[in-house]
Amino acid sequence: MESDPPGVTEPEPAEPFRYDAEVDPGEKRHIRYEVGESYLGDPVQIPVTVINGEHGGKTLFLSAGIHGDELNGVKVVQEVAERYDPEGLHGTIVCLHVCNVPAYEAQQRYTPIYDQDMNRSFPGGERSNTTGRMANEIYRRFVAPCDIGLDFHTSTRNRTTIYHARADLENTAIERLARAFATNVVLYGTGDAGSLRSVATADGIPTVTVEMGRAHRFQPVLVEKALEGVESVLAEYGLLPTEPVHWPGWFESTAADTTKRWLRADAGGLVEMEWGPYPLVHEGETICTVTNHFKTEEHVVDAPFDGLILGALENPVAAPGHPLCHLMELDRETREEIEREIARGEFDGYRAHGDVWADG
Ligand SMILES: [Zn+2]
Repeated sequence: MESDPPGVTEPEPAEPFRYDAEVDPGEKRHIRYEVGESYLGDPVQIPVTVINGEHGGKTLFLSAGIHGDELNGVKVVQEVAERYDPEGLHGTIVCLHVCNVPAYEAQQRYTPIYDQDMNRSFPGGERSNTTGRMANEIYRRFVAPCDIGLDFHTSTRNRTTIYHARADLENTAIERLARAFATNVVLYGTGDAGSLRSVATADGIPTVTVEMGRAHRFQPVLVEKALEGVESVLAEYGLLPTEPVHWPGWFESTAADTTKRWLRADAGGLVEMEWGPYPLVHEGETICTVTNHFKTEEHVVDAPFDGLILGALENPVAAPGHPLCHLMELDRETREEIEREIARGEFDGYRAHGDVWADG
């Protein structure tokens, strides 16, 4: 066997992708994979696309629809599945278009009737409840064979969230992935027990959650950003010969160094958002007001510090304790960077259109 010149590593051999069948190198296959049964005993099938490159390399999974009403990621996965082919690809892309099919068909977050949360059900098992069994099929067939993963979510219904990644930044393998995906905001967190991110990561499959916008919608500006992020990840890990994007900055938080606060209503009533068009507020600025129906009482919610609005209520009614706005404190340097971007017109992907931002 010939030895390689120094500094050159042997290319990884192209291998079949194995679930309980095989997708050969050079093959792209659309699969309907049975993960459970309906009340009628009919198969519950998830749509999966496996794109196995003609060359060997890393295997990346993309998952969407773990929460059934979170649609932006479903669109991202559909586009990725169509966009890439085995020709010229070094490695494999596994596209899990919709993970929780019963929830997706009902257009709701959780599995219907029993409100089981698939993102607390991984890795699941053969003796788990319905959602845990589906999660288990998905996990062992399609996630476990992968090297890295991106799991796409949106805010829960009636709220919206800024485009950002959630990642355990103290894990260098995950930090690499999060930086390659290149959102402007990366928030630290290890993820909840039973979430796909935490379980896959603990299994040695670094996984980042991407949060984008609101439920029940396609938001083209966010979908486009996510597609650029996927392309950058493919480049970073050598699946494509292009150059990765570098993390564009503004914000990354680590475990203890960030103040994030949900501002909550103290009175019941009608909510009017006052912030915008950019999700940047300065200390003392009014974020929203809550008025009673006679408009005889008004509660004003001011920003307690200079901050970036990470998430906001969209449904304009509130009871005491209701979350109105998720605000993250900014240091002066970050705030000034954002202000410069706003002045240059580079912040428009985060500009509010009506009551949400980046709707396209
Ligand atoms: Zn979600």
